[in-house]
Amino acid sequence: MERVTHTSEATPVSQTLFSRAASVTPGGVNSPVRAFGAVGGVPRFMASGSGPYVTDADGREYVDLVCSWGPMILGHAHPAVIDAVQAAVAKGTSFGTPTEGEVALAEEIVARIPPVERVRLVSSGTEATMSAIRLARGFTGREKIIKFAGCYHGHVDALLAQAGSGVATFALPDTPGVTGAAAGETVVLPYNDLEAVRAAFARHPGEIACVITEAAPGNMGVVPPLPGFNQGLKDLCAEHGALYISDEVMTGFRVSRQGWYGLDGVTPDLMTFGKVMGGGFPAAAFGGRADVMERLAPAGPVYQAGTLSGNPVATAAGLAQLRLLDDAAYAVVDDAAAKVRALVTAALAKEGVPHTIQCAGSMFSVFFTEASVPDYAAARAQQTFRFTAFFHAMLNQGVYLPPSAFEAWFLSTAHDERALERIADALPAAARAAAGATAPATA
Ligand code: PLP
Repeated sequence: MERVTHTSEATPVSQTLFSRAASVTPGGVNSPVRAFGAVGGVPRFMASGSGPYVTDADGREYVDLVCSWGPMILGHAHPAVIDAVQAAVAKGTSFGTPTEGEVALAEEIVARIPPVERVRLVSSGTEATMSAIRLARGFTGREKIIKFAGCYHGHVDALLAQAGSGVATFALPDTPGVTGAAAGETVVLPYNDLEAVRAAFARHPGEIACVITEAAPGNMGVVPPLPGFNQGLKDLCAEHGALYISDEVMTGFRVSRQGWYGLDGVTPDLMTFGKVMGGGFPAAAFGGRADVMERLAPAGPVYQAGTLSGNPVATAAGLAQLRLLDDAAYAVVDDAAAKVRALVTAALAKEGVPHTIQCAGSMFSVFFTEASVPDYAAARAQQTFRFTAFFHAMLNQGVYLPPSAFEAWFLSTAHDERALERIADALPAAARAAAGATAPATA
């Protein structure tokens, strides 16, 4: 079999920018997975985006199935979002005071998601999860937290243990720089294993402040909760006086008007949001039960703050985007995602490539294995070398996939028939590349 060389076609401007970047920024990027480390080749430096397309610095256009890792659910440069941003910018970009836009965005979130009685705006998903676990510890007076292997909650020290996303992509063990004290109170359990959670509560009676879980994980690839898993977590937390934190940074406002909560109906004590709610700007949030949230400063003693929290430009973008996201919009995204899944599976099956597609609402990912993937161990057992070959073949034909086998694919309301046709046209060659790929020789 011919060995696939994973070099995409020449992109000299991206190459030059990457070299420049590498001399001033570690690894040449500001977030690790962007470096194409797992798939090789030159990361594309994007210059612009419009609807379902992004154009790189060499002038090549791609159908975008990353959508900025989730936020761009209306596609790139949506006129309503751009108008809202331009109007906000013209009035000044940051005041360090309360503004009406923050109130309106908070009201929109509270109106959509009944378990969110109070919400605090922050600037990134990492801040949201970090603050939520601090609040859970402050509220319960307990120190330990439970998280699941393969779930990623941002780069919070206590939450990096066996994390997904970039930590999975680069197969990193626990990261240097996280002290034993910061990670020592984190209990990491296999995902979708309620017995393990029950046993952990039994091992640490009265010590666990919270269980934090991705509402439906997308950071080890998409691994939806088994039926009853989230409810089981909620019940165990209630039984043991711990808080159940549902991290909806990825799923929130993406898989339905109410995020994953709208699909499974399990009521968390606290929730975290980001991505879609910022409309492509840095806005995120955590919220939940009023009695818990009222423990936050200045209402209560648990400190949390941010110079740019509730930034007027970010809140304007987020609000403009959320206001366009009604049930009809989600139906469009769901439909586009279902069509892409069908196209991918048909192309891979035709070439006899072992694969499994798993989805959580419109989010999905393609695992290069025949087995179903209930947890991180199963996700890591896939044949990632096939993904690498598939990825580069798609890229060369103008389809931009997440550059890692451990990430979700994202669509938008802008992914129309023309964009889907371009994906369909690229798939046969990519499936052949995946079929012909061989595992790297082990040393
Ligand atoms: N939680 C989840 C589920 C995420 O997917 C992410 C980012 O991908 C985060 C938290 C962290 O968000 P941010 O990158 O905005 O800090």
